[in-house]
Amino acid sequence: MSIGASDVRAWIGDFAAAVAEHRVELVRLDTAIGDGDHGTNMDRGMKAAVEKLEATEGEDVGALLKGVGMTLVSKVGGAAGPLYGTLFLQMGTAAAGRTELDLDGWADALEAGVKGVQARGKAEPEDKTMVDALLPAVDALRAAAAAGADLGDALRRSADAAEDGMRATTPLEARRGRASYLGPRSVGHQDPGATSSALLLRAAAERFG
Ligand code: ADP
Ligand code: MG
Repeated sequence: MSIGASDVRAWIGDFAAAVAEHRVELVRLDTAIGDGDHGTNMDRGMKAAVEKLEATEGEDVGALLKGVGMTLVSKVGGAAGPLYGTLFLQMGTAAAGRTELDLDGWADALEAGVKGVQARGKAEPEDKTMVDALLPAVDALRAAAAAGADLGDALRRSADAAEDGMRATTPLEARRGRASYLGPRSVGHQDPGATSSALLLRAAAERFG
């Protein structure tokens, strides 16, 4: 099995629906350690991304992902818009010209995306950011591929790893973004961006798994 353009469209639609469903929870998490806009930011951005995909033709997976990224960069303010925008732009660059992604192709794209997020935001593991969900997901994909897992199984493991990483942000002190202004008072709260990133990977596992 592989991931084609119609799969990517469906995945982005599923993520947009998951963000809408969890909007209030994402706002609540960001109210505790930020300014309370993460759920509304992401909901607005993903609705615009879905509209962009509906207006985009073609089977090039990379072009679709780049369209999502450009929409998020242009439509969403704050930290998460440019960071999620970079994630999708770099995934799209890695997948440029491809109409299908197998497990290795998907892992390459996600890894390029996460590297882009880190290059832009300078977050390292355990800084209490979306990187804490995304990096373990990439590692899990690589480990699953090395163990001979099929695509669906690998995606489920990567979503599980992202959720573990998301939960593991709770005891951390934030070192990047708005939450870092709170210093030790950021401890004891789950990071909103790690939470939305876990939703992104769960959407892939449920769609392709
Ligand atoms: P803002 O912080 O500008 O209000 P959002 O509330 O939409 O933006 O997004 C906050 C999330 O962005 C955080 O929970 C964190 O996961 C992520 N984030 C913030 N700064 C960084 C960074 N430098 N690198 C990676 N992720 C970051
Ligand atoms: Mg915020």
